[in-house]
Amino acid sequence: MRFYSTRGGADAVTLSQALREGLAGDGGLFVPEQFPAFTANDFVNDVTLPSMANRLLAPFFAGDALEAGLAQITAEAFNFPVPLKPLAANNDLSVLELFHGPTAAFKDFGARFLAAAMSRLHLNAERPLTILVATSGDTGGAVAGAFHRRPGTQVVVLFPQGRVSPRQEAQLTCWDGNVRALSVQGSFDDCQRLVKAAFVNATLRERFELSSANSINLGRLLPQAAYYVQASLAVWRRTGQHANFIIPSGNLGNALACIWARRMGLPIGRLLLAHNRNRAVPDYFDRGEWSPRASVQTIASAMDVGNPSNMERLRHLIPDLADLKSFVSTDWVDDEVIAARIKTDYARYNEVWCPHTAVGAEAYERLSPADKAQGPWVLVATAHPAKFPESVEPLIGHTLAIPEPLAKLLALPRRFDVIAPSDSALQHALT
Ligand SMILES: *Cc1c(COP(=O)(O)O)cnc(C)c1O
Repeated sequence: MRFYSTRGGADAVTLSQALREGLAGDGGLFVPEQFPAFTANDFVNDVTLPSMANRLLAPFFAGDALEAGLAQITAEAFNFPVPLKPLAANNDLSVLELFHGPTAAFKDFGARFLAAAMSRLHLNAERPLTILVATSGDTGGAVAGAFHRRPGTQVVVLFPQGRVSPRQEAQLTCWDGNVRALSVQGSFDDCQRLVKAAFVNATLRERFELSSANSINLGRLLPQAAYYVQASLAVWRRTGQHANFIIPSGNLGNALACIWARRMGLPIGRLLLAHNRNRAVPDYFDRGEWSPRASVQTIASAMDVGNPSNMERLRHLIPDLADLKSFVSTDWVDDEVIAARIKTDYARYNEVWCPHTAVGAEAYERLSPADKAQGPWVLVATAHPAKFPESVEPLIGHTLAIPEPLAKLLALPRRFDVIAPSDSALQHALT
């Protein structure tokens, strides 16, 4: 299969090229030239997530240099559990826990898949592949951890100074060797802008083989579709109904992966995109006009995105808002409501949400009874609450046990440099 740019101004490329380049030459994002069609029956013999992923992704890998490595890549990347848990107190709602990987957020799926794929692409190159990644909190840690000590690669993580949680910051700055962290005196949007500018900076391009690992990279998005296959099939086999998903959203990578899985024929019904006060997407649904803006800071910081990159892929796939609205709806939630939802659901379900997952839980609560009755709903839990103790612990009244992989990272010493939010500051830091 080949992949082309959402802007139509660049040549179609192979999968390997799309992973390596991150962004298309015309500034657009890579999308597949077509989506293969599947039915639930295609997956009857696949029990594990890696085997479902192999089947789903085989058409995208067909004819590429990575084709023979796909099974190894998925086995290496998806080596942790992905439970789908019914909520005891609510028969119509279950929770898909995507936070059992090494950095305790769903970004581990895409980051680990991309690292496993890229390290196979690059084994013989003499210049190290340099991954530039802008993070609003969780991406950077997941990408750094996934690439750490992988030969032939180095990672530079840009994060907005003071706008990630202390534990997130620890996960961005605890690495050594081939991973560097830059604390940018600006917002996530500044970080994202610097990374985009670096890709068209002639000096940097000459010096490094640059690539991205943000959710603009196809190698992050494709593997995320796999857990929607697994979860929707589990619901389908249990209930005979399509699964509806509530997805806490920021840059729309997770949502897009779900929409791609749906497009490929998996039994997925509605999507509810749950945003924090960064409400560019809900406003687009309300007004029909796309107006990206600066991000605002919230307690669900990994969703603080004012100009979600993947909107370009979404609008390319489904340009007509009415078509999009036929199966997708959106909502947005402010910080006070997030906090109240964490408190209430802890009392009611004995479940502790991270602030991002709580945005989704609140959006679900606000559905009309008719919408709730549209079939089984699955709340996508995007991070472990122990990543955000300063906002979650006061609400539930006790400390949270830290998952073991996370505890290991938190014990390591911190290393980072501070830079101004300018292209020249980034260039200077890198050269
Ligand atoms: C990144 C992230 C999100 C938002 O996901 P997108 O793919 O950017 O929409 C939500 N929750 C958590 C915990 C995240 O790390």
